[in-house]
Amino acid sequence: MANITAEAVASLRSEVAGTVAQPGEAGYDEAVHIWNGSIDRRPGLVVRCTTPADVAASLAFAQREGVEVSVRGGGHNYAGFALTDGGLMIDLTPMKQVTVDPDARRARCGGGTTWGELDAATQAHGMATPGGFISHTGVAGLTLGGGLGWLSRVAGLSSDNLVAAEVVTVDGRVLQASESEHADLFWALRGGGGNFGVVTEFEFALHPVGPLVHLALFLFSPDQGGDMLRFARDFVGGVPDDCGVFIAGVSAPPAPFVPEQLHFTPAYALAVVGFGDDAAHREVIAPITQALTPIVQMVTPMPYVALQQMFDESAPWGLLAYEKAVYLTELTDGAIDVILEHQPGKMSPLSFLPIFVLGGAYARAEGAASAFGGSRDIQYVVNISAATPSPADYEAERAWVRNFWTALVPHAVGVGSYVNFMTDHDEDRVRSAYGDKYDRLRQVKAAYDPGNVLHLNVNIPPAQADT
Ligand SMILES: Cc1cc2nc3c(=O)[nH]c(=O)nc-3n(C[C@H](O)[C@H](O)[C@H](O)COP(=O)(O)OP(=O)(O)OC[C@H]3O[C@@H](n4cnc5c(N)ncnc54)[C@H](O)[C@@H]3O)c2cc1C
Repeated sequence: MANITAEAVASLRSEVAGTVAQPGEAGYDEAVHIWNGSIDRRPGLVVRCTTPADVAASLAFAQREGVEVSVRGGGHNYAGFALTDGGLMIDLTPMKQVTVDPDARRARCGGGTTWGELDAATQAHGMATPGGFISHTGVAGLTLGGGLGWLSRVAGLSSDNLVAAEVVTVDGRVLQASESEHADLFWALRGGGGNFGVVTEFEFALHPVGPLVHLALFLFSPDQGGDMLRFARDFVGGVPDDCGVFIAGVSAPPAPFVPEQLHFTPAYALAVVGFGDDAAHREVIAPITQALTPIVQMVTPMPYVALQQMFDESAPWGLLAYEKAVYLTELTDGAIDVILEHQPGKMSPLSFLPIFVLGGAYARAEGAASAFGGSRDIQYVVNISAATPSPADYEAERAWVRNFWTALVPHAVGVGSYVNFMTDHDEDRVRSAYGDKYDRLRQVKAAYDPGNVLHLNVNIPPAQADT
């Protein structure tokens, strides 16, 4: 690490309760191992923080010594923002404490908690807060950017359910942010990403969920894709708000419920999860098999925690990955034509096209109440996601994403979309993603991080005095 003396590192070690690791030292390799294997950056120093004071000391050290700072929550970010090249990485992985208050319907968790860890603790009380689809994703990055998952239609985004946060600001203050304390910061944290401070604890509202939920998963052949997508756009309008809906272009998984000859072959998927009773769920899904003839179907109760882990094996750590997304208010014929034309172009079985279906509680939430960029009229988030273990195939998979995205943009709401699905970004797309919230976000950034110390994120530059 440039110009950092051994004395300075020794002094930092003496200040923090957690551990400080340089390359080659214990804990370093584990801390810098992130989900996306295509990212090749090596922090000069990792501070494995255990307290807000450790985070404050790390931020002070980095600014004093003039080195770049990165922050790691779950390490899942496609762009690999958890890693600085040569600078100081604040690793929150040791901060995983979770406490649940079932009477108040609240859960608190540390900044390094994963969704699997939070779900396990809340489900012990028959409750949950909306998370993502993969259990080894970090609560932190997913929530700060928004948070889409099975419960989006039932209870809104993860960020809609954040009720308070403990935040270490770049000047070393430890603040509580909520509707009643530092309300501007609290507004910005819910969708504005990691721009404003390091969140060391999240507090979420909980909802009664499970422990058993009802899954219906249907697979269709590529030539049934058009019929399924046209059916789905009408069908989703009638699905009650206690169901999650998911559409995808996939490769059929090598799962026991899929006939062996179909394993890894291209398919389209439609899934409906019922959070109410079995009979109601069966009634909701009945029109699917009345209208269509899936090549595979599985209808089963399953524990909510198993649902949350169902796709984990399809997204192992170390894949080379890239993604771009769009928001759609409608699944128009034009958008469907683009999907049908481009989806067959993927080569890796692990590349896929998840289409998150919104509506319900997502649509009812007050859009202006948080910084989340997407309008509440958006019905679909379409994510074109490339993933391959093979360096030789990576460029072709990236080209598939880029060409697909370019063709889909004319059917979408602008060029900006969900910030957690941006592997690369420029100011125009970030501005477009936040729309008329962008200028307010820049003001909040100027108030809490005027020097843009926290810039390894979908960055919101601080407002200048004249903006
Ligand atoms: C396989 C996979 C599946 C996914 N599925 C979904 C999904 O279903 N729904 C969805 O909405 N998103 C999903 N995502 C996207 C996910 O929301 C983002 O990748 C998110 O950034 C991951 O957060 P993290 O904490 O794991 O990542 P990290 O890489 O650790 O951090 C991401 C960003 O947040 C910042 N950050 C992390 N922790 C903190 C903190 N405590 N305080 C301040 N800033 C912090 C980091 O500096 C970085 O800029 C998925 C991603 C992957 C790779």
